[in-house]
Amino acid sequence: MTLDLALTTGDLPPDHWRFEAACAGTDDRPFFPTRGSSTKKARLFCWGDGEDRPECPVRLSCLNHAIENRENAGIWGGMSVRERRAEAKRRGENFPQRELPNVDEELKSLIENDIRIAESLLIRGAVPRMPSK
Ligand code: SF4
Repeated sequence: MTLDLALTTGDLPPDHWRFEAACAGTDDRPFFPTRGSSTKKARLFCWGDGEDRPECPVRLSCLNHAIENRENAGIWGGMSVRERRAEAKRRGENFPQRELPNVDEELKSLIENDIRIAESLLIRGAVPRMPSK
């Protein structure tokens, strides 16, 4: 899977910032990490390493785009959604919390399903129990 940020550019003018993205054509997973996973790889694309690897030439455009469009997921402009929200606040802009009307229910359902699977495995003896003292 590659990052569409710079590749889904069909309707964009040829001088659009996305064509200059350092992340163009790269794996998008580091930019949309699962909870608890590292954002270091994505941030390296965005910020550079302070030595050989330069900052993404369109980092500010990318960040501005994400703030203006209230992008509520992923690393944009080198920042997480929390950092973008703080940046928007610093700029005096409104960046409302995302409303997640169905996520709680979805999450609850996933957790319940995981519990059912774990219980089923325990019942079948597939998961070793903790040794009793
Ligand atoms: S700032 Fe980061 S996410 Fe944005 S275009 Fe550059 S490398 Fe991609």
